[in-house]
Amino acid sequence: MKPSRKALVNRFVVGPLGVNCYVVADPDTKDACVIDPGADGDKIKRFIDKNGLKLKFIINTHGHGDHIASNKELGAPVYIHAADKDCLTDPKKNMSAGIFMFDIVSPEAARLLKDGESISLGSLEMKVLHTPGHTRGSISLVLDNVIFTGDTLFHGGVGRSDLPGGDEDEILSSIREKLLTFEDDIIVYPGHGGPSTIGEERKNNPFLA
Ligand SMILES: [Zn+2]
Ligand SMILES: [Zn+2]
Repeated sequence: MKPSRKALVNRFVVGPLGVNCYVVADPDTKDACVIDPGADGDKIKRFIDKNGLKLKFIINTHGHGDHIASNKELGAPVYIHAADKDCLTDPKKNMSAGIFMFDIVSPEAARLLKDGESISLGSLEMKVLHTPGHTRGSISLVLDNVIFTGDTLFHGGVGRSDLPGGDEDEILSSIREKLLTFEDDIIVYPGHGGPSTIGEERKNNPFLA
């Protein structure tokens, strides 16, 4: 499995729930974004500084607390799908109230994302796919030969659909109708667990059989 052909992608596993936080950067311009800074903001910041990267924005694949908790500490504009925007500022909606040690609150969204739109990062383009079912506003992000799938598709698994806003039929059709339309060799970077490929999930994911 080859990493992204065009972008620098660095994965951090953060927080008690083992969220994958990805730093994505254009190697030429050094423009960078952070996907799902769920904890360890200081470590992510140090990585950005050490590599001379310029943090332009944060993208949350969805609004759950374990994916947004370090938004504030990183201090960059937050992009999220419109349907999950209220999770940023409401600990009940982001599931942190009464579950985590403290209520998680993020700055409000600076940009509300919609299905099919493009996000520019230096010379890179990321395409937003609305893939609801884990939450109403869950998204996946396509960057060249890589898809960041958040809590929608995992290596050998699919995201929970039993939490508020979740829907089992919806997550399965998001995966089948949007993610599995990509070629077999496209790399999957999920929100938890190790990386995979679209081909591997098409063939071996027991939840998609
Ligand atoms: Zn989640
Ligand atoms: Zn998660």
